[in-house]
This record gives sequence, C-alpha cells and structure tokens, in this order.
Amino acid sequence: MEDILEGEPMYIIRDGKVSKEALKNKVLAGDEFFASLRFQNFSHMGQVKAAILETSGEVSILPFKDDEVKPGLPVWPDLLHNMYKVMPADGVYACYTCGSTKHMARDEKADCTFCKKNNVWIEAISEVKKEFV
Ligand SMILES: [Zn+2]
Repeated sequence: MEDILEGEPMYIIRDGKVSKEALKNKVLAGDEFFASLRFQNFSHMGQVKAAILETSGEVSILPFKDDEVKPGLPVWPDLLHNMYKVMPADGVYACYTCGSTKHMARDEKADCTFCKKNNVWIEAISEVKKEFV
C-alpha cells in the first residue's frame, strides 16, 4: 500500500470492473475497497463507472446513471458466499477477482479472460438501488 500512497491517484475501477492499471499494479479491489462502496450505499460493482484511489488512501467513486447500471460483482458479504466454478444456472456471473462479467450457461466453466487469474464466479446482481438490506 505505501508505494501507492506516495504516487498519483490511480483508477482502480473502470466501467464496473477492476482497471487494467490496478491489475498491473496488483491493486485488487478487495475488502477495503468493498467497504468504501458499502459506505456509499453501492451494492455491486456494476453501479460504478469509475473509482479512484486518492493519494490520501481515500476512494472517490463516480456512479453510473440509473439507466446505465449493469450486472456486477456484489460487494456485500452475504452475496459473496455463492462462489461457483461450475455455473448452477444460465445467467450473468462476475469474476470474483476483478468483477468482469460474463453470460454463462448452466454447467459452464470458464477462466476470466480479463484478469486471467481466476475461474471462480459469483452470481452478478443488477439492481439500481440497494434494496435488499
Ligand atoms: Zn477476472
């Protein structure tokens, strides 16, 4: 973390998934970032157009407009328990590592082609507002 704090503000999310620069610098979203999203009442990464890790360590978040929200990786712990390597049903799934989404069929398996680090997927959610708490 220290190296980054001394540097410049960095995009950690672009278009609902972890940014290429965050992947390259091995700054993955992770729990701390999820906490920042929860504090600001986001329920999933598909609501986030961009997020920047400021040099202060704080996270600035630019949301998508309501009609631009897309399915994304949930950031609430209860919804992160259902992790799949083999998909249980047709639907949109989000990469557990980077939040990249993919439509998959029942019994499908896949490696994430965006972060190339993962084959574990979480059912994506697409709500606009946080309604389930
Ligand atoms: Zn991924």
